[in-house]
Amino acid sequence: MRAEDGALKSREPMLGLEQAREIVDSRIAPLNGYEQIILKDGLGRVLFENIDAPFDLPPEAHSSMDGYAFNSAELETRGGSHFRIAGTSWAGRPYLGPVKNGECVRIFTGAVLPSNTDSVVIQENVRRSGDSIEVPPVTRRKDNIRIPGDEFRRGQRVLENGKRLSPADIGILASLGCNEIRVRRIPRIAFFSTGDELVSLNQPIESGKIYDSNRYTLYGMLKTLGIEPLDLGVIRDDHDAILDTLVEASSISDVVITSGGVSVGDADLVKQALAAIGRIEFWKIAMKPGKPLAFGQIGPAYFFGLPGNPVSVFVTFYQVVRPALLRLMGAPTKTHRMQACCHSEIVKTPGRQEFQRGNLFFDERGNAQVTPAGKQQSHHLSAVSRCNCFIVLPAECDGVTAGKPVEVELIDPAFHFN
Ligand code: AMP
Ligand code: MG
Repeated sequence: MRAEDGALKSREPMLGLEQAREIVDSRIAPLNGYEQIILKDGLGRVLFENIDAPFDLPPEAHSSMDGYAFNSAELETRGGSHFRIAGTSWAGRPYLGPVKNGECVRIFTGAVLPSNTDSVVIQENVRRSGDSIEVPPVTRRKDNIRIPGDEFRRGQRVLENGKRLSPADIGILASLGCNEIRVRRIPRIAFFSTGDELVSLNQPIESGKIYDSNRYTLYGMLKTLGIEPLDLGVIRDDHDAILDTLVEASSISDVVITSGGVSVGDADLVKQALAAIGRIEFWKIAMKPGKPLAFGQIGPAYFFGLPGNPVSVFVTFYQVVRPALLRLMGAPTKTHRMQACCHSEIVKTPGRQEFQRGNLFFDERGNAQVTPAGKQQSHHLSAVSRCNCFIVLPAECDGVTAGKPVEVELIDPAFHFN
């Protein structure tokens, strides 16, 4: 069955981006299911358990400097500043002997503080002669030591269920001895490009053809989320071929993503195939680039039909698909927006909210400035490659003159290495 353009047009919703995101959010719930994995594989994964400290961290008092450990009470009781060196405490090889009155212990960073000592004077500040030292009068009590449990007390919450694990997170987990962790299942994603003009990279290029770049951009964007997507290649502009591929893709994945074939035109078959076998929630958003953006479901699989234009693929993925995938992964999404001064003129016609590709920088006074990152048409992927932010222009904006403030959205550097 082939849905006619007219039928689709009659329920043509021109949603704002916020409304579209709300619809997506209301349909998508975090995936059920988890895996038990070794810690090293946890980078970028989302915790599926709370982690509480199994012991105090640090577990014992340690020295934070190379120097001499002594009992600070002696500075007052004895009034003395001379100590005899009783032994050495190394990191990993503590000094286990007694520390009597008038004695100190040579100590190195990370070594356990010997009993009867509570302070470390750094080696640069002492005068040493033979096996004795003299500490200067300015020496402070309890200096240069790490207090047991000052980072985490035993039983204290260290990481919350839902935390996406950063390098520091897996370091913390290692310092607590966690060898295996429980993380949420990663979504299975199948994706393909549509278009008779598209040629794969190992094919010669002829007039009328272009290389398929969207599959590479999409692959990269999915990989940065830790997803190993299933690449179903290029599908020609043929209703049955697209329909068959959508059926196959939806049977093997949680999410199907396509590019091309969702705008109004004879060859825009993805939307029609989706209407035939699934449900369309929306297929137009009042944003630029990215007006034709389809969201729906095919059976239990979610579907995102991105526009064909390479810049639109990036912008719609970042603004709509990525937050949806993070939600599916059980991870939080944060948007970082700020005001910046527009460094050069921006051209815009009123109508749709626009996400121009920008370069944010700080001038010599430390003020945030932004300038368009290059040519702004939706085939200019080079501006995406160069940009570090979006310049977010409201629908009614009719251009910005240099010197005026604009809103800027930072692009997550872990997503877009810029
Ligand atoms: P469409 O959304 O299918 O009408 O495509 C819009 C524009 O994007 C056309 O100029 C297409 O040639 C181009 N396009 C579509 N798919 C791709 C792709 N996978 N890689 C590069 N450009 C594409
Ligand atoms: Mg096309």
